[in-house]
Amino acid sequence: MYIKTQGIVLKQISFKDSDKILTLFCRENGKINAIAKGAKKTKSPFIGITQMFCYSEFVLYKGRNFYHINQGEVLNSFYSLREDLYKLAYGSYILETVEYGITEGESNERIFLLVLKTLKTLSLMERDFLKLLLAFQLKFMSFIGYKPELKICVICNNSQLDEIKFNIAGGGVVCSKCKHLGDEKIDKSIISAIDALLYAKLDTLESIVIPNHILKDIQTIVTKYTLNHLDRKTFKSLDFIKAIPK
Ligand SMILES: [Zn+2]
Repeated sequence: MYIKTQGIVLKQISFKDSDKILTLFCRENGKINAIAKGAKKTKSPFIGITQMFCYSEFVLYKGRNFYHINQGEVLNSFYSLREDLYKLAYGSYILETVEYGITEGESNERIFLLVLKTLKTLSLMERDFLKLLLAFQLKFMSFIGYKPELKICVICNNSQLDEIKFNIAGGGVVCSKCKHLGDEKIDKSIISAIDALLYAKLDTLESIVIPNHILKDIQTIVTKYTLNHLDRKTFKSLDFIKAIPK
């Protein structure tokens, strides 16, 4: 049976002499693995559609172990994400977050549209990549059920938040009574910046001004938060981001 679906290439690996196995995030079918026969051959019609980030309309059929790609038509190759070191690093981080954050075979159109919009925004922007990345991660984590709690203490439900910290595993802020259980420093200016990123439209991010030191503090919290709740020790793309010149 043939299936028509839109999908984004999260990962591609070589398989046998001339094939590729893709991890796709599909609009209708969620995360799936699909084999592209002969995709490594120079004249293969699958060369474009098997590139990382590429967003295409696929025709697939389901075999015993894998989906097989029968046809594909590129809708947006996101070429610039593979050509710019910074965009490649941040884009890889986005794809890795998605790969580990979604369950195989479960469709989620809201997340699909978030990922698509994030890649589109990243491909068009010239700076402020970190701000986009953090907005994406906060939204993504919220969409999969891990929205950070910023208004009441996650230990004792206290809404009096004068002196606070952030508890990674608990998923939110802790009050002054519980601050010995906090992992990361956080204050009102960090909270309001997180709040702004959580609710901002990605194409209006430019109008939200957040000082660099606050972005760095948010990055520390959000990175640990993502790894903790996705049950990962690290992401490969995190080393990539650290390695690129600032
Ligand atoms: Zn408390």
